[in-house]
Amino acid sequence: MATFIVLLGPPGVGKGTQAKILAETTKLAHVSSGDLFRENLKNQTELGKLAKSFMDKGELVPDDVTISMIRERISRPDCEAGAILDGFPRTPTQADALEKMLAEFASEVNAVPYITADESVLVERTGGRWTCREHGHIYHEKFSPPQKTGVCDFDGSELYQRDDDKVETVTKRIRVYLEQTMPLVEYYRKCGKLLEIDGAQPVEQVTRVLLSALNK
Ligand code: ADP
Ligand code: ADP
Repeated sequence: MATFIVLLGPPGVGKGTQAKILAETTKLAHVSSGDLFRENLKNQTELGKLAKSFMDKGELVPDDVTISMIRERISRPDCEAGAILDGFPRTPTQADALEKMLAEFASEVNAVPYITADESVLVERTGGRWTCREHGHIYHEKFSPPQKTGVCDFDGSELYQRDDDKVETVTKRIRVYLEQTMPLVEYYRKCGKLLEIDGAQPVEQVTRVLLSALNK
């Protein structure tokens, strides 16, 4: 049976960073809904233009388009063994839809690491985040700077600061997270799948705790 891991947590807590490490370690695909929207935006697709209007305001993209985008993504061959889902699901409707689509592949969500940190940590992390234009590699100007300022270590592409990482938009995204995504914490706790992880530690420490929780 395939393995699906859902990373839950507020904006900027380190889901993308940990998802990339986990994907390397487990050889599962990394599926990031935010990266998929940004890729669509870069390619100027209709979905990208629609998503941008919500992303710029710090709001969630509507469930129906988000769910069809993820359905298409996890149907690709590289997800046959499973995936690390980063940023999806974010609403109860998305969680229901995920359960149904995985049931079609005779699979289910196996574990839900829930990474947390105080709001001040989230603001500091998003405020210093630099993202790679080509493949979404993640840097922080203070905590994980690239070797050369403004250039991705992996693919040499340009690093940029996301429009929605402005402090006003981050504050809005945290509010949206508390209202729309927090119910999923209780939902997965009740199913016995939630693994609570302290995200306020350095990257390597969070990875250690995460891997040991998953191996239990
Ligand atoms: P998310 O996907 O949850 O929004 P990211 O993985 O993109 O979070 O991380 C947000 C920012 O914080 C990035 O700049 C990243 O380099 C940095 N970061 C991630 N994890 C840590 C950590 N444990 N300690 C310090 N900085 C971190
Ligand atoms: P972060 O890593 O900081 O949590 P993401 O890159 O995951 O941010 O998401 C950026 C934006 O993309 C969100 O604010 C939202 O507008 C949109 N988005 C990403 N995932 C979803 C989702 N599952 N449902 C609805 N909107 C989403």
